[in-house]
Amino acid sequence: MSTYEKTSVTRRGFLGAAAAAGAAVASLGLAGCAGAPSPAKEADAGAEEALSSTGATDWLGEEPATPESFAAEYEADIVVCGLGVAGVAALRTAAEAGLRVIGFDKADASRSSNEVCAFGSGLYAERYPDVAAHWEGMRPLILNAVSEGCLYRNDTRILSRYLDINGETVDWYFSALDESEYSFGTSENGGKVDREAALTLAEAVYPLPEHYDPRTENMPCVPGSFRMGGEQKGPGFLAANLARAQEAGAEYYTYTPAVKLLTDEAGRVTGVVARDAEGNFVKATAAKGVILATGDFMNNEAMLRTFLPAVLDQGYECFGPENYYTLADAEGKACNVGDGHRMAAWVGGKVQDFGASMSHFSKAANSSVFGTLPFLMLDAHGRRFMNEDVQGQQFAERIRQLPRRQAIMVFDDAFEEQLPWMPYGHGKLPNTRRKDVEARVEEGTLWKADTLEELFAQMDIDGEAAIASVERYNELCRKGVDEDFGKTPTRLFALERPPFYANYMTRGDDLVTMCGIVSDEQCHAYNTEGEIIPGLYLAGNVQGNRFATIYPEIFMGYSIGMALAFGREAARVAAAE
Ligand SMILES: Cc1cc2nc3c(=O)[nH]c(=O)nc-3n(C[C@H](O)[C@H](O)[C@H](O)COP(=O)(O)OP(=O)(O)OC[C@H]3O[C@@H](n4cnc5c(N)ncnc54)[C@H](O)[C@@H]3O)c2cc1C
Repeated sequence: MSTYEKTSVTRRGFLGAAAAAGAAVASLGLAGCAGAPSPAKEADAGAEEALSSTGATDWLGEEPATPESFAAEYEADIVVCGLGVAGVAALRTAAEAGLRVIGFDKADASRSSNEVCAFGSGLYAERYPDVAAHWEGMRPLILNAVSEGCLYRNDTRILSRYLDINGETVDWYFSALDESEYSFGTSENGGKVDREAALTLAEAVYPLPEHYDPRTENMPCVPGSFRMGGEQKGPGFLAANLARAQEAGAEYYTYTPAVKLLTDEAGRVTGVVARDAEGNFVKATAAKGVILATGDFMNNEAMLRTFLPAVLDQGYECFGPENYYTLADAEGKACNVGDGHRMAAWVGGKVQDFGASMSHFSKAANSSVFGTLPFLMLDAHGRRFMNEDVQGQQFAERIRQLPRRQAIMVFDDAFEEQLPWMPYGHGKLPNTRRKDVEARVEEGTLWKADTLEELFAQMDIDGEAAIASVERYNELCRKGVDEDFGKTPTRLFALERPPFYANYMTRGDDLVTMCGIVSDEQCHAYNTEGEIIPGLYLAGNVQGNRFATIYPEIFMGYSIGMALAFGREAARVAAAE
């Protein structure tokens, strides 16, 4: 069985393999440590107490004391904390550069979602030349659109560097597998993959809507994203990269969370204390640097309350490992609780201002059969409320402010003729077929009727106001100018041909936080004085200033793309400095 055939390997298996590789250079004080009270656990208890007594705002807690002895000590050039997409990219890059590299993961190193931005990728351009043609000359538009969206609170240098290195990174990431080992889509085969294959790789939306041109969009999304699919999806590709890292000499330990950073007198980060699967402390020193790639803090209520209170105020309540794609640690608790943020802050790191949360319409229950395509939308009072033609994140921001945090999408029987005029973007489903629509009617999540009166009578909406809104919308469509909200004329479709359809869209799902430690395009970590913390590097969602205020949807799979690119960059910079 090849390493990527199984996406979740038992922790014993990993530990056994890692231990057999002879990573430990010394073993000190094991017996003393095993029975002794754990400083880290005491600090955790202290932090929990502070949380309840202060109304969940003491997010930092106290840094655990450094243990006097360790069950094992490791020496490396680079230590990587967190082995999601960012950490695995760092681990493999460092190992392939011939460095001694050790990685720790709090869970089983298997977290990856599925869409990755392919902007600049030669592999992608070879397979989808028609889509890649859209990249030509797009850099200025991308740079300006993202920074404007982020109100210039982001660091545009990070984005600029990302555009330089994304293509090479994506090609390298997928080179972990031979093309014979997965099924892939191309323009020539219509983007089709073998659905039975364990791993597949294809453009996320193919073919593109016929009339889509990002250059003329109100809110562009630059096409060109791979979707990792098949039975194993993103975690399968991650496992293949982890295997390449190991072959190149990397060692890694699962269910071994990093608990604190070690520093020298000058404040340079020199290593990490972690707690192994048996609960013993281990120490890893890093001659060149420590890379934090510990992900986000979507499961830390105190951090959300402090840095992104709107997420809580607007109804987010999904804490725990049952949250989407959240890994569970050895105790069954969710991993993405901002450990890296806290470790960095304990050595002076500053959490960025104006963080964002990624919000998407990813579940059928809260989205429409077309995702967030810009058909007519009404609020619960039956009133139209915006130009519907925006990306999903912006739509999510607006819908959260509506009565009942709910909108109703309305369309008519002519939808098939309208789809070629629709946009490309995250959560947009322009390739939806009539059979999908009818299946949703059958399922009871889409309402259908021969008249608008009958349609709205079945739903929780002010029917009279809704009909008046449709009449006004139809008037604007016939005129060809959306005087009320400014929707592009090519997407103004009057609702005239029965049957009519409608469904609810509830608030988007908050998936991850984009609120890291202040950073730059070289993955440095900055302290509260605006100075670089030597020896410390950041990648993935713990890297701050990539986005601010909002997660812009200029690409699909932007988040994984950035995590991979800067995981790789962090290893390169740490190696060179
Ligand atoms: C449902 C869902 C769908 C998504 N879909 C997409 C998509 O299609 N495309 C896209 O670009 N983005 C998507 N995202 C977002 C994307 O998954 C994340 O932004 C991305 O995984 C971040 O990568 P990361 O490496 O920074 O962190 P993570 O993937 O969260 O990895 C962090 C790792 O650090 C480990 N860790 C945590 N604390 C410690 C510690 N103390 N010591 C050691 N290890 C630790 C964790 O166990 C984990 O393995 C999605 C998110 C969700 C929830």
